[in-house]
Amino acid sequence: MEEKQIKEMIDLAIRQMDYSYAPYSHFHVGAVLLAKNGTCYTGCNIENAAYTPTNCAERTAFFKAVSEGMRDFQAICIVGGKDGVPTEYAAPCGVCRQVMMEFCDPETFQIILAVSREKYDIFTLKELLPFGFGPDNLKKLK
Ligand SMILES: [Zn+2]
Repeated sequence: MEEKQIKEMIDLAIRQMDYSYAPYSHFHVGAVLLAKNGTCYTGCNIENAAYTPTNCAERTAFFKAVSEGMRDFQAICIVGGKDGVPTEYAAPCGVCRQVMMEFCDPETFQIILAVSREKYDIFTLKELLPFGFGPDNLKKLK
C-alpha cells in the first residue's frame, strides 16, 4: 500500500472515534476497512448496558461492508484509546480476528495499527492470528 493511502486511512479512523459509543469503558475505537475495489467502510465501537451486545469498531466496519454485498478486502486500519486519545496500538480482539479470518486471506490481508499518522505498523492477519481456523478448514473435510 502507498504511504499516502495509509495516512488517509489513519486520518479517517481517527475521525471515526468521534462516533464511538463507549459510555462504560470510555475507550473509543475507530476502524476503516478497505475493500479491494477501493471502497472504504468505516466503523466505531458501540457499547451496551448489557455489555455482551457490544460491537467492536472492526466488526462494525466488516458487517456494514458484507451487508452491502462486499466480501473482498485488502486492509483495515484501527485506532483507539481512552477518551478517544490513542497512546498505543489498539489491536483487534480475538473475535474480530476471527471475523477477519472468515472473509480475508490471512497471508495478504493487512492490519494497520496506528497511534498517529507518524506512528503505525502493518501486520498480516496471519501474524495476528497464527493457525487461524477459517472457511478453508471446512473445505478440507469434503
Ligand atoms: Zn473486536
